[in-house]
Amino acid sequence: GLRNRYATLQSLRQDVSDPSNVGRLAILFIDLDNFKTVNDTLGHNAGDIVLQMTAARLADTVGATGVLSRIGGDEFVVIVKGGDVERQATQLAETMREVFEHPFDVRGTSFVLHASIGIALFSVGSESEIDLLKKADLAMYSAKDAGKNCYQFYAPHLSHRADHLMQWEQQLRVALNERQLFLVYQPKIDLARRCITGFEALVRWNHPQQGVISASEFIPVAESTGLIVPIGDFVIHEACKQLASWQSQGYETLSLAVNISAVQFWRGDLYETIARAIEETGIAAQRLELEITETAMMEYPDLVSEKIAALKKRLGVSIALDDFGTGYSSLSYLNRFSVDTLKVDRSFVQAIPADRSVCVMVSAIVNLARSLGLTVVVEGTETEEQIAWLSALGNIQAQGFLFSRPVPAEGIPALLERFGVCGMREPIGSPSRVVPSTSGQSA
Ligand code: C2E
Ligand code: MG
Ligand code: MG
Repeated sequence: GLRNRYATLQSLRQDVSDPSNVGRLAILFIDLDNFKTVNDTLGHNAGDIVLQMTAARLADTVGATGVLSRIGGDEFVVIVKGGDVERQATQLAETMREVFEHPFDVRGTSFVLHASIGIALFSVGSESEIDLLKKADLAMYSAKDAGKNCYQFYAPHLSHRADHLMQWEQQLRVALNERQLFLVYQPKIDLARRCITGFEALVRWNHPQQGVISASEFIPVAESTGLIVPIGDFVIHEACKQLASWQSQGYETLSLAVNISAVQFWRGDLYETIARAIEETGIAAQRLELEITETAMMEYPDLVSEKIAALKKRLGVSIALDDFGTGYSSLSYLNRFSVDTLKVDRSFVQAIPADRSVCVMVSAIVNLARSLGLTVVVEGTETEEQIAWLSALGNIQAQGFLFSRPVPAEGIPALLERFGVCGMREPIGSPSRVVPSTSGQSA
């Protein structure tokens, strides 16, 4: 029952051709967050119902303040005209946020679906309707980048960023095809025994001009473009090959963790990829660990918990909850997602031992996790003081620059030699192991 894209652009064209509208016209670009997952999990019919419900909610909210239209799948636009459009648009966006807090009930399933909103003001007289819509679209993407479920106004730097993003995307495609990506490995140390329990695999990009680029810099681009799926496949295969090589050398107790992005759960076939990698490399799958962040779990709890259950039950891999403490820190999720390992986020560790309340929290989290039978790993340990304080908590593992930065595959044997492998009597091939020290080492 709403205007379509064509009709919207038609009327916008008239609006922008009238100079008296400068400063008196705003558009809101509304895009549902993770709408695709509704289609993927509940089916397209349910998706259609959700769109109708969304249209009704938005129409209710907009009322006579503006004109609502639907310009694409889950994309809606509101045109606001008149006096103080900036304030009106802001108010609309804020009300919409509240409106989307109410769950949708579709066929017995209740879920919350948020929206990201971009706002552009018609401030330059010479703009075309397409330019104006594009600005609102860019602002909407910036709202997505800012964590979704929020609104953003267009600003000129967003246009530069969009070009920049597109360049990155193209380069990342080349990187995949030309094997510029590789893995580095960071050890996890058992604090009581000071031996290595396993490693975490982290992806790096050997960029032809810029050199080695860290995951935190390009994973977000990979996620927003969907390239994370082929990248994730590469990471899983490489990691399984590494694990197979350890297992064939007799390091049977070593585990290897790979990071899995939320996008990989609903795009691509994660189960197939992992099953195939396990089969091709012949690894003992219980040594493969999947690290999933709490935010990823929260995004689509039903879908993610179902997929995790299948991966665990049918393939035997284990699950780590990554960056614990940065999201909702919901302890009920630990059971719901059958988590085996809890990784306490670096932001907590940084405050140890100076901040008393953080210390109390960390020790409570560790105790609780342990009594639930979980393994605890503390991320980002950088100082001797942190290690001394954490060691007193007993049976936990630590990962961080103090023990070792992530190293390329060639650097692994030296680490195994230096710390030894937990659960093995003597490190293979080095009967005279040196006493482990905790002096920082980098590679
Ligand atoms: P994460 O899984 O929490 O990984 C830990 C990050 O903290 C890594 O950054 C690591 O290099 C860094 N780190 C480790 N110890 C310390 C320390 O003592 N001090 C400080 N300051 N940093 C430390 P990196 O490699 O840049 O990765 C950032 C994030 O990107 C990761 O956070 C993970 O969420 C994601 N990521 C990395 N590799 C992959 C991947 O292959 N696939 C996916 N989907 N995500 C990945
Ligand atoms: Mg991780
Ligand atoms: Mg982490």
